[in-house]
Amino acid sequence: MKKYLEKVYKEDKQDFYKEIEENLKNEEKQFIITANPEILTTAERNKEYEKILLDKNTTIIPDGIGIIKGAKMFGINLPERITGVDLTLKLIELCNKYNKSIYLFGATKEVMNKMEKLIQEKYTGVNLVGTQDGYIEDKQAVMEDIKLKNPDVILVALGVPKQEKLIYDNLQDFKKGIFVGVGGSFDVISGSKKRAPKIFIKLNLEWLYRIAFSPSRWKRFYEGNIKYIFKLKKELREEKRKERK
Ligand code: UDP
Repeated sequence: MKKYLEKVYKEDKQDFYKEIEENLKNEEKQFIITANPEILTTAERNKEYEKILLDKNTTIIPDGIGIIKGAKMFGINLPERITGVDLTLKLIELCNKYNKSIYLFGATKEVMNKMEKLIQEKYTGVNLVGTQDGYIEDKQAVMEDIKLKNPDVILVALGVPKQEKLIYDNLQDFKKGIFVGVGGSFDVISGSKKRAPKIFIKLNLEWLYRIAFSPSRWKRFYEGNIKYIFKLKKELREEKRKERK
């Protein structure tokens, strides 16, 4: 876990936004992973995903609070969360400001329609060069279409680790582009993701509500919480043992 946590972006959100603004203006290529604990436990058992995460050209930002807390256990100070939702909105805003082009790929058709409408109505400076929902069979064909359109920003919402693998496998064919695997961000931004009742949100228990009513999330809860904490503690114990020797 430490080897991943050491790679996480260490400045604050404003610095990060400045960096992506520069990269966008200068047409630099960048691949950003918005990390939560589940991503780290995925990397531990999936070597292919680990390679993506540890690649020197991959930027990892701390999306989940668990990343900040986990890093702290190893003495790594991460100032604040930078979430996928915030980053998605920031990139749309920046494209609006500089009249840059975007391609959106992923989520359901309904969500994608809402995203299109939002951009067309609210971000008229954005050049939306393509959209495609994430339930199409041939996802590589979509990547080929993205290559033809050659956009400045490419947001992919297919869930972890599918979205990162697809981006990584195609990255060498692009000369420019800011690529982000944005997970459920389109669902949230389009207002499609149903949130928990207010009382759960207020008590910081939204996660509990989601898990309780969606058994498919039980495994994810285990991976992203129980297993993560267990692994962090184990690594810390081993580190202390080595120090004593
Ligand atoms: N998704 C998709 N195609 C798929 C599977 C998932 O487009 O084959 C979309 C899904 O609709 C959602 C997004 O991927 O918008 C992220 O899903 P999830 O909530 O599982 O991701 P997380 O952000 O929690 O990793």
